[in-house]
Amino acid sequence: MKNTHSQKDKKVDTVLAHAGCSPEAFHGFVNPPVVHASTVLFPDVETLTTGNQKYTYGRRGNPTTDALEQAIIELEGAAGAKLANSGLNAIAMACLSSVKTGDHILIPDNAYGPTRYFADTVLPRYNVEVEYYDPSLNAEIAKRFKPNTSVVFVEAPGSLTFEMQDIPVIAKAAHGIDATVIMDNTWASPLFCQPIALGVDLSIQAGTKYIVGHSDVMLGTIAASERAWQALDQIHGAMGVHVAPDDVYLALRGLRTLSVRLERHMKNTLEVLDWLGKRPEVKALRYPALETDPGHEIWKRDFSGASGLCGFDFADGTTTAQANAFYDALALFGLGYSWGGYESLAIPVRLKGMRTVNLPDSDAHCARLHIGLEDPADLIQDLGQALDTAFG
Ligand SMILES: *Cc1c(COP(=O)(O)O)cnc(C)c1O
Repeated sequence: MKNTHSQKDKKVDTVLAHAGCSPEAFHGFVNPPVVHASTVLFPDVETLTTGNQKYTYGRRGNPTTDALEQAIIELEGAAGAKLANSGLNAIAMACLSSVKTGDHILIPDNAYGPTRYFADTVLPRYNVEVEYYDPSLNAEIAKRFKPNTSVVFVEAPGSLTFEMQDIPVIAKAAHGIDATVIMDNTWASPLFCQPIALGVDLSIQAGTKYIVGHSDVMLGTIAASERAWQALDQIHGAMGVHVAPDDVYLALRGLRTLSVRLERHMKNTLEVLDWLGKRPEVKALRYPALETDPGHEIWKRDFSGASGLCGFDFADGTTTAQANAFYDALALFGLGYSWGGYESLAIPVRLKGMRTVNLPDSDAHCARLHIGLEDPADLIQDLGQALDTAFG
């Protein structure tokens, strides 16, 4: 939906508590109803033929989807917002709304893997030229521009490797050639990074992660700046994207506690990493909120917090058998994809062959951790016993 009113004067925790709520419209009930609907009735032929009423057909939105879209608009400071079936669907739609045949799109080398899969398999069919760039280019991104560059995609910190990008500098350069800037902002959520204020045109959330927050729903959100809104609205409608009301309701429920959850994720993560960094089995930590992280200065300037997703590199010489034994020995940390729920997770990361531009083409063993809402002392105990088991 398009932004019709905004609570710009409210602080973010207040926005989280009230955004999208309109009890006066629903007999005073605090939460919006879960509207299961396809058909919407019109009072007369005149209204039906002109379509002159708020809701016209289930696919085009209902009070439940409006509530979440309105909340996203307010959180992101957007001109408009749309929901998607998944984070990847949000990324695909944002790209499709911004490119046409013959265009050139720039994507950072450390983008989320399935983003690359979409770009590599779908865009070339429409004769869109996909180019990956070194995420550390920043101002030098302009050297990659071509006359047909129409999109610069950014993601910070980068997936699996956590490099930061200078978003305002990249956005300014991109706007200089009238290109659209798309950011995957899932790591920080709209609470800890405000892409549109940094110059981004389309801000993506895999709502599946922190907005939903309970590992039980797939959902994406796209927030648009004024210049990107119309194209997004158009393609979203044309492609028939619709998110089921029960899922939207769960996302709204998750959203209300986003701030308190993220605050705890960050506190727990700092505590766990402080301990992990002292272990001899660990060579380096990957988390921009740490002063030792190469992206720390940019993070401090542009972000107001850090989430629970982080990584570490095992010490040189770590064998595959040792790394695997570590994962298998974990008891509290689950082995699985996705993240952003209340629970801690771990996955093995091998960078070899994953990057095509600035590849750290080493055979090093890395780990990605999601630090959940468990007591950090228990998480440390679990990591400790797993390291002891694997390396002992
Ligand atoms: C998980 C993830 C996505 C995709 O979200 P889905 O809802 O799983 O499709 C996109 N970007 C990042 C950074 C992610 O971690």
